[in-house]
Amino acid sequence: MNTETLSFIQKYDLLGCVQCGRCTGGCPEAMRTGLNPRRVVYDALEGNVPEELAKLPEIWDCTTCNTCAARCPKGLKPVDVLIGLRNILVESGVIQPTVRDALESAFREGNPWDKPRATRGDWMKGLDVSMAEPGEKVENLIYVCCTICYDPKVQVIAQNLVKILNKAGVDYGFIGDDESCCASEVYNLGEVGEEGLFDMMVEDNTELLNSYKATRIVAISPHCYAALKNQYPNLKADVIHYTHLVKELLEEGKLELTGELPKKIVYHDPCYLGKQNDVYDEPRDILSRIPGAEIVEFERSKERSLCCEGGGGKMWTESDSKEERLAEIRVKDARALGAEILAVACPFCVLTLDDALKAKGFEEEMRVAEILEILGDLIEE
Ligand code: SF4
Ligand code: SF4
Repeated sequence: MNTETLSFIQKYDLLGCVQCGRCTGGCPEAMRTGLNPRRVVYDALEGNVPEELAKLPEIWDCTTCNTCAARCPKGLKPVDVLIGLRNILVESGVIQPTVRDALESAFREGNPWDKPRATRGDWMKGLDVSMAEPGEKVENLIYVCCTICYDPKVQVIAQNLVKILNKAGVDYGFIGDDESCCASEVYNLGEVGEEGLFDMMVEDNTELLNSYKATRIVAISPHCYAALKNQYPNLKADVIHYTHLVKELLEEGKLELTGELPKKIVYHDPCYLGKQNDVYDEPRDILSRIPGAEIVEFERSKERSLCCEGGGGKMWTESDSKEERLAEIRVKDARALGAEILAVACPFCVLTLDDALKAKGFEEEMRVAEILEILGDLIEE
């Protein structure tokens, strides 16, 4: 075995693998693509060089949902092995143009969507938004997310949060055009080399976020929440997801839902909020307070929730699989429950599930809605 393969095995602790197959057994992509995390680990242990393993097209099918790591009895993280293989391609420049463009845009403009940095705050136009100032105290520093800032289909999420924060009289501040990508998807696309783009963005963002005297940073997207909470070791403020804050406001009576919504609602757990950070109760608690609503549960929920395939850099990669998309399975499951609203707490879930809803032709019966959007319609201006 060559030294490169040996150091790859050591880096990811692969010798601990007992080939039980629990990773592949739980992998949602193994159901519809050639991805087999157990096999990748096995092949590395058999001495296959990482450069060869990196050529497997299915390494790009991983959604980084983290199910494999959560299920591994030996504490291995097959998802990190796959990201490590992507890194080999990124380092050698052999990547899809869409991936290259996303990474270049993240470096140049602070977002992976090839949008100008100067228009990051355009979604705020016409709204009464409180801005945070570096050096000044703010209780809740809001971190928006690139996708919410730039994609008109999900800007409504942040716009409704503003409405809610103003209504509840919260001490908050947004960052505006100075905010940059949290780098979660940069990491997932394989830009994880030492002192590479991910490290650089974490360092720059840490400096920016620490320049505000914030008590806590409130991330709107679960992807930003997971990154800031788990991959930014030097942040001074606590990091929470918006569902923590909104639950608090409802509990303390600072926010009141005055409207009614007599609909059947099912909640889809985003992987980066649920499986990766154990935030299961807050979104359910919020939804349970909606007057008139009936809340139902997916059979596959919480730890067993099905991934929507929005993460893991999959917004910028194509899969060869012709099998039904997981988001399509999810909307079919929601329809079978008789749900009229498929509630989510993540911009990627909105986009993938809404696409699937349209692909299946279910628009007449059901809609996909982010929790903030649902709440925004239930509070008085
Ligand atoms: S779950 Fe862990 S121990 Fe089992 S095959 Fe996968 S990596 Fe190996
Ligand atoms: S992170 Fe999810 S999609 Fe990727 S290999 Fe693990 S279980 Fe499969």
